[in-house]
Amino acid sequence: MTNDRSEHGAGRVGQVKEVTSLTNPIIKDIRALAQKKHRDETRSFMAEGLKLVIDALDLGWKIKTLIYAKAAKGKPHVEQVAAKTFAKGGLVLEVSEKVLTTITRRDNPQMVVGIFEQRYQALKDLKPQLGETYVALDRVRDPGNLGTIIRTADAAGASGIILVGETTDPFSLETVRATMGSVFAMPVARASVDDFIRWQKSAGVKVVATHLAGAVDYRTIDYKSKPVVILMGNEQAGLPEELAREAGALARIPQAGRADSLNLAIATGIMLFEARRHLLTLDARA
Ligand code: SAM
Repeated sequence: MTNDRSEHGAGRVGQVKEVTSLTNPIIKDIRALAQKKHRDETRSFMAEGLKLVIDALDLGWKIKTLIYAKAAKGKPHVEQVAAKTFAKGGLVLEVSEKVLTTITRRDNPQMVVGIFEQRYQALKDLKPQLGETYVALDRVRDPGNLGTIIRTADAAGASGIILVGETTDPFSLETVRATMGSVFAMPVARASVDDFIRWQKSAGVKVVATHLAGAVDYRTIDYKSKPVVILMGNEQAGLPEELAREAGALARIPQAGRADSLNLAIATGIMLFEARRHLLTLDARA
């Protein structure tokens, strides 16, 4: 069932649609965002939670649809994001809990969900400056790893992520969840192996590639004299030769114990915080 209901509160200029039916075409469309093909075609993705939606709007992301639970109706922050969504020409839906559960595929869904326009940075527009750190990921496969890396890169003060080759989708629900909102803060670019190699040669960066056979202890590398790109290998196969041979350094994180390697996201976190150690202080966020 869809009811159009005029709203005049909180400076609204649009109409909230009440939706309770799972067969409503708008809801079907939103549910289809679980498929990458549909996300790509519509260039959209879903983010859950009021705080995330507020942050995304503050950072200038384009919201297409705001969905909130009936129980959230009238809450001041919800009213504000609804007004902002209308102001940007977006759609606002008030839905039943059943609809929210289905959209988010969760038993205890968040009260607020936003559908946003995807955004990629063009590789050619990445112009690293001294003091900046980027993370390049070769064929990252696991959405949880990618989301955790985006979140960790944000926390370390990195300037962007470069996805090299065929990777998992940064805008899948699982990845977006794992970013805990950092998907809105961290620029993401995509590149083929050839494009990445061409870019790294002209961008004035130091590429520090990580490799289980790396000859250099990651703690001995100079991360200060150029902008740094930390290049990480695929979860299963590691870094291919064509990327490893172009790097300025092949770094290894020394290990003890029986584990063959570190998890990709953990290794990326260790590298990031070492590369940015001289730039991070406890009061950097004050
Ligand atoms: N079987 C793969 C291999 O032989 O490279 C393991 C890949 S590991 C799970 C995923 C990525 O994490 C690696 O390609 C590398 O970039 C990074 N990594 C993991 N442990 C590392 C270590 N001890 N030193 C440097 N990089 C490491």
